[in-house]
Amino acid sequence: MPRQLPIHERFHSFQGECCHAGRAAFFIRTYGCPVHCPWCDSAGTWHPDHKPQAINRIEALALAEEAAVARPAFVVITGGEPTIHDLTPLTEALHAIDLPVHLETSGAFPIRGQFDWITLSPKRWKLPLEQNLSRADEFKIIVDAPGAIDEYLAACPPPPGVPIWLHPEWNISTDPAILDAITARVKTSGDPFRAGWQLHKPYAADALDPRSVPEK
Ligand code: SF4
Repeated sequence: MPRQLPIHERFHSFQGECCHAGRAAFFIRTYGCPVHCPWCDSAGTWHPDHKPQAINRIEALALAEEAAVARPAFVVITGGEPTIHDLTPLTEALHAIDLPVHLETSGAFPIRGQFDWITLSPKRWKLPLEQNLSRADEFKIIVDAPGAIDEYLAACPPPPGVPIWLHPEWNISTDPAILDAITARVKTSGDPFRAGWQLHKPYAADALDPRSVPEK
């Protein structure tokens, strides 16, 4: 079982999205993603034009030690698409020091590792596996067109009761058509729909940690 992971960046910040927004978190962003969303805000993890000169491979225990120093409320494993890697050694190392572990994933690949919270954000370029839908604690739909909400609800229905966050795609996050579509859905349908935002971006919260990498 591999104990090293390719790591793009890790940083101590706060969760800027969804149910745990505003809480202190240590982020571990793995390298690699085969989904290739055209508006990806983590293109440094996969796009040939943004590939870093060197990709760090870091032991699970070393990552857990860094997280322990940060003393966050929880750790977020994100990407890239983190589930292309076997995350079992890392989640075991983090749980061994009593840190809750959250996962952010497209859901398109089998999930390996134990997680206390799973945010599933489906992407039309590689839709979630059926087996992962029921594991989601919350859904996050990136609204990149007014019709995206209905498109995703039809393509990969969330399990009953989980919050469904509607986030404007950041490059068009001031587009009235996008914001109006989100507002209308929340007003007309109520729960489980929630209007979302990427709170960490206006704060530039990630950039305060020198281990973070500027977005591509
Ligand atoms: S799944 Fe996430 S990391 Fe991968 S291309 Fe899409 S937005 Fe980027």
